[in-house]
Amino acid sequence: MQEQYDVVILGGGLAGLTLSIQLKRAKPDISILVLEKRATEAAVAAHKVGESTVELGSHYLREVLDLKEYLEAHELPKHGLRFFFKSNTKEKIASRVELGPRELLPVPSHQLDRGTLENELIRRTRTLDTEVIMGARVKDVTFSKSGNEVIYVKDKVEIKTNGRWVADASGRGNVLKHKFGFKKDWDHDVNAVWWRLKGVIDIDKWSDDAEWKNKLKPGLRYLSTVHFMDAGYWVWVIPLGSKNTSIGIVADQKLHPFDKINRYENAIEWLKQNEPLCHKMLEPEKENLMDFMILKHYGHNSGRVYSGEERWGTTGESGPFLDPFYSPGTDFISLNNGWLSDLILRDLKGEDILVRAKIYEQTHLSLFESWTHIYQYKYQLMGSTQIMVVKIFWDWAVYWSVLALLFTNKAFTDLKLIKELFASADGLGRKFTALHKQVQDFFIEWKPYDTEIFSNKYIDPFDLNFLRKFQQGIDVKHANPEKLVEQVSKNLDILEKVAAEIFRHVSTHVKNTSPKIKVNPYTIKLTDDSTDTESVNAISPDPEITKDVDVMWFYKKKELV
Ligand SMILES: Cc1cc2nc3c(=O)[nH]c(=O)nc-3n(C[C@H](O)[C@H](O)[C@H](O)COP(=O)(O)OP(=O)(O)OC[C@H]3O[C@@H](n4cnc5c(N)ncnc54)[C@H](O)[C@@H]3O)c2cc1C
Repeated sequence: MQEQYDVVILGGGLAGLTLSIQLKRAKPDISILVLEKRATEAAVAAHKVGESTVELGSHYLREVLDLKEYLEAHELPKHGLRFFFKSNTKEKIASRVELGPRELLPVPSHQLDRGTLENELIRRTRTLDTEVIMGARVKDVTFSKSGNEVIYVKDKVEIKTNGRWVADASGRGNVLKHKFGFKKDWDHDVNAVWWRLKGVIDIDKWSDDAEWKNKLKPGLRYLSTVHFMDAGYWVWVIPLGSKNTSIGIVADQKLHPFDKINRYENAIEWLKQNEPLCHKMLEPEKENLMDFMILKHYGHNSGRVYSGEERWGTTGESGPFLDPFYSPGTDFISLNNGWLSDLILRDLKGEDILVRAKIYEQTHLSLFESWTHIYQYKYQLMGSTQIMVVKIFWDWAVYWSVLALLFTNKAFTDLKLIKELFASADGLGRKFTALHKQVQDFFIEWKPYDTEIFSNKYIDPFDLNFLRKFQQGIDVKHANPEKLVEQVSKNLDILEKVAAEIFRHVSTHVKNTSPKIKVNPYTIKLTDDSTDTESVNAISPDPEITKDVDVMWFYKKKELV
């Protein structure tokens, strides 16, 4: 073991191991030490959550870390996210409103067995000549001008080591957050429990209804991350490459208190009450139970993420953590590692990174802030099918058209671009954030009016033209930053039209307003008459977008003029 490393990484989970690989790929002679508390190999399947990836995180694993071949050979391809909504006949899966892709997706993603993946990442990390010490529990870190010292315990012996940089990837170990006291709460009281079952569970076999089965090619439903939803909760079913299955319940404390799900027997009883078909299909599997895990109040924020002065950064769950709905955990690790590795590499080249570190930190924390609106107070909407269908499409639209696009085009480490997009008051990023918040608030206002329970509907996101284009656009490399900004601007125009059209549909339904009114999407409100329908900022319907919003609309359209 050396005395001094360029980087000491605290924790060898997904965030820490991927950071080490990213750094080594960029600078093969960088010296890195990874300290991991766990002494043994990770268990297959029954290891951690974080099994379902979406486009941004998949791009990171496949392209940035070059894990494409490994993922295709050893983990499962994923067939998107799939949702089954509130129903009066939950026992019959074929009668529930189902949302999910029918055809194979152009932009790939994966289902990860976190145990097999982490074991592989450790092997790769070592092959790249990075030292990984297992059974090493970090006890303290001290920062000083002469260098950063990490104290860890291995085999009951306290050992000191030094790193020019310290990257905290200790997940919920939260080494630096505890030390500096920068943990922040945010108002989001949601809990989760999960367990793994030996063997394959294919929900396609949960019904004999031929018409329902034939909606997709055999095997595709199995590969989706499946969500069963109703007010205040969602239940996940995720297939794993090790031929096991991950099941989880995520529930808002106010509507489904934690003590109703916090033990395996309670969770099974809860399923019986809330998701009887899941209960019927999963309860007999008890003999195949591999683990049962709980996490109360999982969401947390953080006051700091990077320090250029003291040369530390946090990554993964040791920083802020939002919510697992839409599987964004690996996305945030990707963004986080992008910023942190860039700071480390520039610093090692001798660049002054102080200003850059501050800008990355601001961008990271404000991105977290703007993303909270997707989740905060939204679990109450999970039993409102029409709102959730529209919301899921809206959330995907903003994710694909802006966040994922900027990531695949390496925009988040381009200071000029960050400034142009996020710093000025009329910058595209600020406009996008304002629009997004307005639409998310609008969903809450809409809730009292969305009362119908729908059944026997299948809805595919890729039947919507704008969504299909946004998803395909993620993989398009724009020739230069100007072209990228041009594309973000075009995408924002479309998002504005979509927001205005959603408002038109709802307002016509609820308030009998004309479906042709002009609407300023930045002002949409249902509870008063403050929506701007007259100024120059109010936009007219676009027939293409109206057609797309019609696809996601379940109520009978009123024939008003
Ligand atoms: C209910 C739930 C469901 C989720 N589902 C998904 C999903 O489907 N898709 C997705 O992308 N994300 C998901 N996530 C998020 C995902 O779990 C996290 O993003 C990811 O696991 C975080 O990785 P990490 O490396 O930061 O933490 P971890 O994987 O927890 O790694 C931290 C490592 O640090 C080690 N450690 C801790 N303390 C110390 C110490 N003092 N010294 C040394 N080592 C230490 C630990 O042993 C551990 O190995 C979910 C999260 C929750 C809560």
